[in-house]
Amino acid sequence: MTQEAFEEQRLIMYYQPVVSTRDGSAPGQGIAPCQGVIGFEALIRMVHPQRGILGPAAFANALDHPRLARRIGCFVLDAVLTQGEQWHRDGFPLRMSMNISARHLLDPEFLNDMRAALAAHPDLAPEMCEIEVTETAPMLDFPTAQETLRACNNLGLRIALDDFGTGSASLSYLQKLPAQTIKVDQSFVRDILNDPRDFAIVAGITTTANMLGLEVVAEGVETVGHLQLLKTLDCHAMQGYLFSKPMPAGEVPGWLKSFNILNYNNNLTPLPEGLCRI
Ligand code: C2E
Ligand code: MG
Ligand code: MG
Repeated sequence: MTQEAFEEQRLIMYYQPVVSTRDGSAPGQGIAPCQGVIGFEALIRMVHPQRGILGPAAFANALDHPRLARRIGCFVLDAVLTQGEQWHRDGFPLRMSMNISARHLLDPEFLNDMRAALAAHPDLAPEMCEIEVTETAPMLDFPTAQETLRACNNLGLRIALDDFGTGSASLSYLQKLPAQTIKVDQSFVRDILNDPRDFAIVAGITTTANMLGLEVVAEGVETVGHLQLLKTLDCHAMQGYLFSKPMPAGEVPGWLKSFNILNYNNNLTPLPEGLCRI
């Protein structure tokens, strides 16, 4: 199914904003383009002739399949860098984040694929691109993953550790892998308002990341209550349905025009009683 979709060009990218709740604007000051928006995460979708737009859960195996992982990975690199370059030319200085499968990251050709994709899009600085990796690749082959990620950093790319906290070895990866961003998995973020254990885990990850000078992005932010509590934890970069679901590229300029982080920051509700603040 996925190979067919790939060959028929029915794989497309959706984009979900990553926002910063540090608004930084003085009263009366105009809103700069993209203010409050750090960038977008590219998320793959399949256009199915009968079932419509499908998310990766419907074809997850293909993304890491020996025959398809690199081909799909190269498609994603090219599609996202093309889009990012276009937005930069249009005056939207957005960071572009892409998910890299473990198989593609560990492929001996990965760095060549990455270099070729960057060279084909010279108007998008590598520093504006971020690759998101889960702990699967380092678990399979730590030395190769470590060396490849270092080489990516040397190319100027940012590295994000995705779904952070879900794996058993996360903290030791923080020590040994060259990362600039940690994305706290949505399974911890979802219940921070009600579950003190999840709250403690997110607080711990955020404190550690901040002390290490890493950017920390909370995934799965769905309500203003989540936003407010995360801010008290000093977690200011967020992604989730509160701001927007993943959307087709064509909707992004309109969304950027209508987005204003002040609408969220000024709209805070009291925290539920009994919830600890730090
Ligand atoms: P991920 O990289 O952790 O991406 C975040 C997922 O959380 C996305 O699911 C996104 O739609 C979803 N999400 C974002 N905000 C919220 C929220 O507020 N609430 C809830 N319930 N969900 C939220 P999606 O698009 O289904 O992607 C699932 C996973 O598939 C991704 O997780 C990533 O691991 C993988 N994936 C997506 N695109 C690609 C790709 O281009 N290549 C590869 N190799 N993997 C991809
Ligand atoms: Mg991701
Ligand atoms: Mg994630």
